[in-house]
This record gives sequence, C-alpha cells and structure tokens, in this order.
Amino acid sequence: MAEKVSVVKCNSYDEELVLEKVREALDLIGFKVKQGTNVLIKPNALMGKVPEEAVTTHPAIISAVCRILKEKKCNISIGESAGFMALGGTDYALEKSGIKKVDEKYNAKLINFDKSEIVFKKINGEILSSINIPKPVLDAEFIINLPKLKTHTLVGYTGAVKNMFGIIAGGKKAYYHKTCGNQKRFSNLLIDIYFARKPDLNIMDGIVGMEGNGPSAGKIKKTGVIIASRSGVALDFIAEKIIGFSGDDIQTNTALIRRNLKPEIEIRGEKNIRVSYEKPIKTFRGRLEFLIKIFYIVINPRIKINHKKCRKCLACMKSCPANAISFVNEKIEINKNKCIMCYCCHEMCPESAIEIGPSKFVRFIINIKNLAKKVLK
Ligand code: SF4
Ligand code: SF4
Repeated sequence: MAEKVSVVKCNSYDEELVLEKVREALDLIGFKVKQGTNVLIKPNALMGKVPEEAVTTHPAIISAVCRILKEKKCNISIGESAGFMALGGTDYALEKSGIKKVDEKYNAKLINFDKSEIVFKKINGEILSSINIPKPVLDAEFIINLPKLKTHTLVGYTGAVKNMFGIIAGGKKAYYHKTCGNQKRFSNLLIDIYFARKPDLNIMDGIVGMEGNGPSAGKIKKTGVIIASRSGVALDFIAEKIIGFSGDDIQTNTALIRRNLKPEIEIRGEKNIRVSYEKPIKTFRGRLEFLIKIFYIVINPRIKINHKKCRKCLACMKSCPANAISFVNEKIEINKNKCIMCYCCHEMCPESAIEIGPSKFVRFIINIKNLAKKVLK
C-alpha cells in the first residue's frame, strides 16, 4: 500500500494558523492519536539558535503538536541530543531554540539524551549490527519526528531520516562521523539509525527552511509548507521534489533507493508546490571513489576559518572527530592532513565562521574559464 504524504501551505508561524495547518496535514493522511498515549517528540535542536535563524524546528510547530496531543490526554516528552559539542550543549540548544518554553507550557518532560540511560540494542543494519539508544527512545509508545527542512553539506539535505541521528547521544555522533566518513557510508548509517527505532509520525517544519551550505550556515529560505507522513522515508522523497533536488543531490535518498527502501507514495493536499533550493557546495566524498583517490586532494572543497567572524569559542575544536583543529597563538588552525572533511566544524560553528569554498585547483580552473570567456567575446 502506498505511503500517504500530505503537503499543506503555511506561510507564517502564527500559532493558531500553524495549529490549523498541522491538523489539516494530519487529517489528510488520516492520522488519529489514541487517548492517553505516551508520546516522545523528537525536534531538530541542532544547536543554540533562535527560531528566526531557521536552524531548529520552530516552537510553533512543536506547540501545535503538543496541543493536539493534550486534547487526547497524552503524556508528552520532548527529547534531543544536539550536535556533538554544540556550544552550551543540548540543554542550551533546547532553551535558545524556544523548545524548552513550549515544554513548560504543556507540562511535558524535557529529555536531554546525553544524560539519559543508554540501552544496547542489536539491529540488522547495513553498517550497524548494534546500536546504543537512549532508554526514553526505546520506552516511547509513539515517536513523533519533527525535522526542519534544510540543506546539508555532507549528505545534501536533512529531513526525517537525518533528524533521527539526534537520538544518538553525545560523543558517539563524532565517532560515527569518523568511522563512517564518506557520504555513502554515512548515509547508510543514518538509514540504519532511522530504522533502529522508526518514528511513528513525521511532521516537517518547511515554513521557513535553509538552502545553500546548511544545516546551520546556509541561507534562510521561505518555503511555506508543512509536510506530514507516517513514513519519514516517503516524506523525504516528497521534500526532495518540492525543493527541486534530484539524482544524487540527497545522498540518503540515493541510498534508500539502492537498498530498495523507497515506498510507493501517494501525495495528498498540495501536489505542485516547488520552491527551488540552492544546493550545498558539491563534495565528492564517496563518489566515483577511484577518481577521488587521485583527485581528492585537489578538487574537494576546502574549509577555511574566517578569523574576523571567529570569536574563539572552540566549539569547532571540540566537535572535530579527527582532532584536526587546534588553537595556536590565539587562532583556530586546521591540520589539513588530519582533516577527514566531515564538515562537523562547519555545522557546529555558532558564528558561521567556518566557510566552505572551492579548492585552489578548482578556483584556478574557474578563473581560466572566465578569462577564456572574456578573450573569446
Ligand atoms: S571558528 Fe571560531 S567561532 Fe567558530 S566554532 Fe571555531 S572557535 Fe568558535
Ligand atoms: S576540521 Fe572540520 S571538516 Fe575536518 S575533520 Fe575536523 S570537523 Fe571535520
């Protein structure tokens, strides 16, 4: 049977409007919650950013979901583990993003997965044969995944599947980045984690998303949609269409197709919304591996510290799984020989001071091309 995905227009974070639109999205997929269910909400609270920065799930979406659940007398928990070594940690991310306030308003239980009991679980993944999951995730009767619509420099896009990476507590995230370095392997790891405890419902905050070099340093993009589905996988394929990505643009979707995990999908509601997103800079990790081994050093995009923006918080250094960042003479330095190009530092920098741009070689080619154009005019 086809997985239903609803797409509903919503152009503002006005709480009443968002509530109405979330209800509409849920009605379109025929979703009803049972009275008194124990529900765990998993938002995206990647780091301590205010809602207007479009990095985290907007509190209006979480609030709407809580209101619907409270009407059914559900017991609500909201749980997250922010990006590894995010400045101020998960507690700060939940507070700054406005999620803690929603939690207090609805008398929900706020759970920092980094401080939770961790349970070992055997799984049958392609990369993982076991996983350490926070107990509240395994105990939850029902999980509602609330991803934010954003691009992602490493895997192209972060949506429902990628958002479940936030059930992995603290340092283990960095370990996975290090051991599953390339795009292909990391995407497959994300899929393994998603299926280790598949969420029961997914509602995407696509009212204002992020394009370009997301998930934290991209450009804010008004998109005006809420997308809902019981299947996070189906939701991600519809989001891909809406933002105009295709082919290998979204590495998790590519991996899902290869693993034969893409379901039949039935769209309900708005079928023709298209808001073209600027793609993140192309990285070549894991693509055409034989070529990369030769050209990797010269073509892969380089990360660079913008020292004018840097305020020396050291979040990048703490989040680097390869220990490639050091603080020398009051300046952040990247050891290019150690760097595994995971872009965690770029993701976790609160000042967007870690920039990604073409390598010297690629810049040289671009300059030659531009020069040739001028000469041939
Ligand atoms: S580049 Fe500077 S501002 Fe950004 S995380 Fe590193 S130390 Fe902090
Ligand atoms: S320097 Fe940045 S991109 Fe390189 S390994 Fe460390 S966190 Fe990853």
